[in-house]
Amino acid sequence: MIKAIKGTKDILPESIRNWKYFENVITSVFNIYNYQEIRTPIFEETTLFSRGIGEATDIVGKEMYTFEDRSKTSVTLKPEMTASVVRAFIEHSLGKKQSFNKLYYISPMFRQERPQAGRLREFHQFGAEALGSNSPLLDVEMINIAYDILKGMGLKDLTIKINSLGTPVSRKKYIKLLKKYLKDKENLLSAESKNRIKKNILRIFDSKLENDIEVMKNAPILLDHLDNESIEDFEQVKSILKVSQIPFEVDASLVRGLDYYTKLTFEIISGNVGSQSALCGGGRYDLLVEQLGGEPTPATGFAAGMERILIACENEKSFNTLQTAIKIYIVCLDTNLISNAFNFAQSLRKNNISAEIDYLNRSIKAQMRDANKLNTEFVLFFGGEEFKSNSAQLKNMASGKQELISLDNVLNKIK
Ligand code: AMP
Repeated sequence: MIKAIKGTKDILPESIRNWKYFENVITSVFNIYNYQEIRTPIFEETTLFSRGIGEATDIVGKEMYTFEDRSKTSVTLKPEMTASVVRAFIEHSLGKKQSFNKLYYISPMFRQERPQAGRLREFHQFGAEALGSNSPLLDVEMINIAYDILKGMGLKDLTIKINSLGTPVSRKKYIKLLKKYLKDKENLLSAESKNRIKKNILRIFDSKLENDIEVMKNAPILLDHLDNESIEDFEQVKSILKVSQIPFEVDASLVRGLDYYTKLTFEIISGNVGSQSALCGGGRYDLLVEQLGGEPTPATGFAAGMERILIACENEKSFNTLQTAIKIYIVCLDTNLISNAFNFAQSLRKNNISAEIDYLNRSIKAQMRDANKLNTEFVLFFGGEEFKSNSAQLKNMASGKQELISLDNVLNKIK
């Protein structure tokens, strides 16, 4: 039997209700903040991601779904959205049409990671990218949007962590310092962290291994070596967050996996999803547009993982969606009248009434069971003596009351 590929998941009708609810929360919050939706293709030229995300990152180094198409172009299923949005922003000169753009998306993403609870190979993210402003207000806006959506899903156990990665100049200086610190400690590090010294040294702070943590405990921290501009912006972000009464923690080891971040980075963590606890991550990326060939454009954004958020919601029992109810179930009492009964259901459907009818030649009892399962509001017993006078018995399933009604009045009665 052919099965879904490892790390991918079907979203079955029973959970679609939760997804739709979630998507509604997302779009309504983005509408309130005046963000426009953008959709980009599922695959892009591989170089977009290797240049945009960074050769040394885990995503580009080992997680991308990359293949040659029939014309020998190397293409990649998108592992994240920022590079794609920036490509579209440049390609369609969005920055020229409007100096400031606020965009959001909901999209599947693909990374060949080791699957586990909350970590998939195809997963869904929603997120935002605001391009054209270097205001720290906008960084706070990103945190607020993500937080509002998570709260909108009923989540409570949330922690916001923030850090600043400074400008590339201050980061470079700091990396020199860090390399110096690690020079005589290299042998104490795990093989992976050792490897990162050359490739992506900041990520050593991400290691969960005890030895690595011990070595990094006394390492110099980037926050102590920021340039003045980054310090000022970071202070402003903190003070606006305080005024808006958004709880946050400064986490100097929050370095995030992608190369393009500058200044503010943040993550929102749930206490309720096990080891894959980051629900959302983001930050400023002032140099990416330029790096990908556009005009210098400061920008900031975030991405959040929908599967992980839904796991957190389930664990916190944070929301309930109502079962969509069928308005009316037509039980046909006379097989000779089945076309009439079907036509009657059709006439209601054309009037925006959800109507259901039996397609399996079931007994009347079995049809009633089906109607109950579908949470039906009314059942109409179509046929019998009543049909001769163009009427039928209509049963209100909640009250159990039944009445004789002209077929011409059914629509008005149940509307
Ligand atoms: P990133 O794009 O790596 O900053 O990730 C942003 C968010 O996407 C994370 O906080 C997760 O919630 C989610 N995410 C990232 N990778 C995966 C994955 N492999 N499976 C499920 N969710 C993921």
